[in-house]
Amino acid sequence: MENQVQISGRLTFLGTGTSIGVPMIGCGCEVCHSADPRDRRLRCSSLIETQGKRILIDCGPDFRAQALAHGITRLDALLITHNHYDHLYGLDDVRPLGNTPVYGDKVVLQTIHQIMPYCFGAHKYPGSATVELHEIEAFKPFHVGGVDVLPLPVTHGHFDILGYRIGPLAYITDASFLSEETFTALQGVDTLVLNALRITQHPSHFSLAESIEAAERIAARRTFFIHFSHDIGLQAQTERMLPAGMFMAYDGLQIEW
Ligand SMILES: [Zn+2]
Ligand SMILES: [Zn+2]
Ligand SMILES: [Zn+2]
Repeated sequence: MENQVQISGRLTFLGTGTSIGVPMIGCGCEVCHSADPRDRRLRCSSLIETQGKRILIDCGPDFRAQALAHGITRLDALLITHNHYDHLYGLDDVRPLGNTPVYGDKVVLQTIHQIMPYCFGAHKYPGSATVELHEIEAFKPFHVGGVDVLPLPVTHGHFDILGYRIGPLAYITDASFLSEETFTALQGVDTLVLNALRITQHPSHFSLAESIEAAERIAARRTFFIHFSHDIGLQAQTERMLPAGMFMAYDGLQIEW
């Protein structure tokens, strides 16, 4: 038992829906009209609380509603996976949180400069968001206080984005392919969060069967799927088809480790 650190934490799923959300505007399907609150999914984001730090992964257009619902009034770090609208374009709403350290790859940081130019430079607009940008790279670990974070490359269609490993937890969204290096870096993960868009295949997102296959290879003790479209079916029905130790996350679900 030399030098063993007891790590514990909590993850709250703030949103588990795909880019368009569930229900989808104007859709008449049974999922979009379900009475089960678990079938209502905001855009993907999760809050991790560990070692006294509050770390948010992704900040999509539902961030304001998610922050109000879960009492988020400050963040020690905001980790961005990629620059798609559903993962980044709620960033302006961190304004009331004060200084917010944001971590992303070069493309993400360039996008932030493009969409919020008024937050930077000598003529920063009074009252605009204060975001402190940190450029990160795949496989180069960094620290948020005492929390070690390892960015992992994940292929999303035809470009590489980032997933994150934080101790026993790994969070991967919008993946359509994982390299051997990423599988190796995921060895020993206890709790895996992984995207599973729908039942049928898609060019830039794992289908449910592809996610299950990747999750079986990673072999975490438990896996929670996220980033669902309405085509995934009803939570109550689809979850029953999953292998042991695999679950469909839903908005508001909290897990601890
Ligand atoms: Zn997405
Ligand atoms: Zn629908
Ligand atoms: Zn995406």
